[in-house]
Amino acid sequence: MTTADVLIVGASAGGLAVAEGLRRRGFTGSIALVGAERELPYDRPPLSKQVLDGRWSPDRTRLRGRAELDELELDLLLGRPALSLDVAGHRVGLRGGGELGYRKLVVATGLSARRLPGQTGLSGVHTLRTLEEAAKLRADLLAARRVVVVGAGVLGCEIAATARGLGREVTVLDPAAHPMEHLLGPEIGGALGRLHRDHGVSVRTSTPVRGLIQEQGRVVGVRTGAGSSVPADVVVVAVGGRPATDWLAGSGLGLDDGVVCDHRCRAAADVYAVGDVARFGAQGSAGRGTRLENRTNATEQGVFVAGDILGADAHYRPVPYFWSDQYQVRLQVYGTVPGHSSVRIVEGSPGGGAFVAHVESGGRLVGVIGWNSARRTRTAKALLTAAARSDEPAVGAPSALSHHTSPAELPTEGDLL
Ligand SMILES: Cc1cc2nc3c(=O)[nH]c(=O)nc-3n(C[C@H](O)[C@H](O)[C@H](O)COP(=O)(O)OP(=O)(O)OC[C@H]3O[C@@H](n4cnc5c(N)ncnc54)[C@H](O)[C@@H]3O)c2cc1C
Repeated sequence: MTTADVLIVGASAGGLAVAEGLRRRGFTGSIALVGAERELPYDRPPLSKQVLDGRWSPDRTRLRGRAELDELELDLLLGRPALSLDVAGHRVGLRGGGELGYRKLVVATGLSARRLPGQTGLSGVHTLRTLEEAAKLRADLLAARRVVVVGAGVLGCEIAATARGLGREVTVLDPAAHPMEHLLGPEIGGALGRLHRDHGVSVRTSTPVRGLIQEQGRVVGVRTGAGSSVPADVVVVAVGGRPATDWLAGSGLGLDDGVVCDHRCRAAADVYAVGDVARFGAQGSAGRGTRLENRTNATEQGVFVAGDILGADAHYRPVPYFWSDQYQVRLQVYGTVPGHSSVRIVEGSPGGGAFVAHVESGGRLVGVIGWNSARRTRTAKALLTAAARSDEPAVGAPSALSHHTSPAELPTEGDLL
């Protein structure tokens, strides 16, 4: 059995950031990077935007070129999902047989898309997490007239905007009152709903989905909670993701909607977790910790863990941040928008096409939302950084900050298994 000084499972943004962080700090030990997909590490944000609308070829999403990866001197094992972990024995079992030993292990396996009951095997129904899925969805979108997007989280809204840009008739269904309401609050969620309607999307909020309608193995519509049906040639299910931790079942690691870690992102002796899969700050504190699903966190947390492996002494306290591009609008959110917070536009206006809003909870600033206001939003981030650096938990953070979907419950296949 080969033993790596550092074994990273999950060859995407978070995993790559650990490898690069180690090398940048002069680490000369062996690093193995194991990935379930056959692709070289690539970036996911363009999948719902530039790749789906055809502006970018899939190659442009690569996080690093071959030469840059070679320079990192990694043992790169792609197309080899990890199947099991033996914490005491310091080894990971891989599909296709064989085991890899480690001195330090980093779990960076991200999320798998949630699905609706009856979705598996039904043609015309899509989820979007991988390059392969983006290619399939794009091909189906180009041939479709009517597209239904289930879920008005970030991913659902972006896919709706892209499909509309391709000239499709688009309906978005979500049980919440406004698109992205749990991330933006009702005022700005309402402005986002108007943006989509102004572009001709049928935004049906307060509309839970009951199931898919099919004929001869192909989806033909979606049934809503009110008993009506919405016809569709293509349905995109964007109802969030589940941390990809199945392979860790029985390993002894704490699993609670993610890998349970402490403030240093340590899950057990010699085991770390980073990125979408990591629930950090959950060990050694009273709360449930925080799990962030955004691109910036994957890199920042990867770099942080590289530092911890090499002996840095710090706690991981990020200011949550995500962006989203829909039509000509770039939304940026620093911090969080907890329930019962107040959201106040402090500059600009939705009608004017650009604004900045402050989010306050318990008398303090916990979030900043920018709408086509990159510079001003960044400036306000400094205030949040100061709050996060204080000894308190990450700014008003809820236990999981999923930017893909509204938290409203939908029946999913996973729930039925
Ligand atoms: C379509 C899309 C658009 C997005 N847009 C934005 C955006 O605009 N802004 C933003 O901030 N964020 C966005 N995100 C979120 C962002 O891409 C993620 O937060 C980020 O990719 C998380 O990185 P990660 O490395 O933690 O996990 P992932 O990128 O999910 O990577 C995990 C990797 O682990 C692999 N893996 C899983 N299980 C195993 C196993 N058992 N063995 C080996 N490998 C395994 C997976 O195949 C995958 O390659 C988007 C996400 C998607 C899907």
